[in-house]
Amino acid sequence: MDFALTEEQQMVKEMAARFADAEIRPKAAELDETHAHPADIVKQLGELKMLGIAVPEEYGGGGMDYVSYVLALIEISKGCASTGVIMSVNNSLYCFPVYAYGTEDQKKKYLHPCASGEYLGCYGLTEAGAGSDPAGMRTIAVRDNAEWIISGEKKFITNGNVARFAVIAAVTDKEKGYKGISSFVVDLENTPGFKVGRVEEKMGILASGTAELIFEDARVPADALLGKEGEGFKQMLTTLNGGRIGIASQAIGIGRSVLEDAVSYAKTREQFGKPITSFQAIQWKLADMATELDAAELLTLRAAWLEDHKKPYEKEAAMAKMYASDAAMRASVEGVQILGGYGYSKEYPMERHMRDAKICQIYEGTNEIMRLVVAKNLTKG
Ligand SMILES: Cc1cc2nc3c(=O)[nH]c(=O)nc-3n(C[C@H](O)[C@H](O)[C@H](O)COP(=O)(O)OP(=O)(O)OC[C@H]3O[C@@H](n4cnc5c(N)ncnc54)[C@H](O)[C@@H]3O)c2cc1C
Repeated sequence: MDFALTEEQQMVKEMAARFADAEIRPKAAELDETHAHPADIVKQLGELKMLGIAVPEEYGGGGMDYVSYVLALIEISKGCASTGVIMSVNNSLYCFPVYAYGTEDQKKKYLHPCASGEYLGCYGLTEAGAGSDPAGMRTIAVRDNAEWIISGEKKFITNGNVARFAVIAAVTDKEKGYKGISSFVVDLENTPGFKVGRVEEKMGILASGTAELIFEDARVPADALLGKEGEGFKQMLTTLNGGRIGIASQAIGIGRSVLEDAVSYAKTREQFGKPITSFQAIQWKLADMATELDAAELLTLRAAWLEDHKKPYEKEAAMAKMYASDAAMRASVEGVQILGGYGYSKEYPMERHMRDAKICQIYEGTNEIMRLVVAKNLTKG
């Protein structure tokens, strides 16, 4: 067993870390304050090939592996969790399904612009009444000669207010249950009947837009269908497996930022005439954080390695997402505690880390659902 990174993986990690330190981290507090979409940063991420890391170069991507994706996304999320999820969704939830299930024409038309960073993509699965159980979705798509007509509303869609393209799941045959769900790739700027709805007010990742996508008899061309009719649910399960590796990486990045900020504060804060790092209560918190974050990173790299080697990774991705997000949440709560009153104040980034960490336990399958996925894999057969 070899834990060493390849030269290319090490290079990607260092490049992402340098970029995050210089361009992202100094702007993270302001982005949180203003809720502004980090358009300049996203543009630069595109130039660095960070928006389609594992997409082959011929389709505008970086042509790298998923281990590199994890390493880069940890560093970017360490700089700013909102930027991390923008990058994760574009890579895992948009570029992946278009690359994996798209025709050559669809890849040229819909993958290249997003993998290269010209535009952003988003992924519309969740609806007001269908979250953990997406098979209960109500959005429908009906074939009308050379077009499909899509009607329905998607909720909580990351990048939904800034994306040019979307992969959307819709029911094409009500009688067939989850086997009647299909995926479509939609050019949101050129789809009559489509509009962006409410942009969500939320607790954290405030510079990442979360929006409703509203389709009112929206007409898309016949070739918007991604893969075969009825295969949307299967595609979704595979897509979310990769997405969970992305969210695990985002959580680890947030946790790493917590640990760094906590150590640096604790070394300089003095009470009772000595630095608070001399108190065992503080030392134990830091030791637990560091251990859990390393464990989370190893779980996540294992899932990415399995994906790179085309081996099953559903259970491992669910374990990584659930463990990493729980570890980041625990770290951020303890991080606030280590900073005392300053941890609760907006003067320091710790309270932002705590707000940002929480979402990682919820999206792309809640951690309750992750435990079901792990248990299903343990007990099947
Ligand atoms: C900021 C943000 C960004 C998002 N981005 C996207 C996106 O880009 N695309 C997209 O499609 N969706 C997105 N989502 C939606 C997200 O994936 C869902 O919110 C999530 O899957 C949970 O669904 P829900 O909110 O309907 O909760 P529910 O499914 O209603 O769950 C409520 C509670 O019940 C629990 N629960 C449900 N079923 C079970 C069960 N069988 N066993 C045990 N417990 C259960 C859940 O774990 C949870 O604790 C986003 C959400 C947010 C908040």
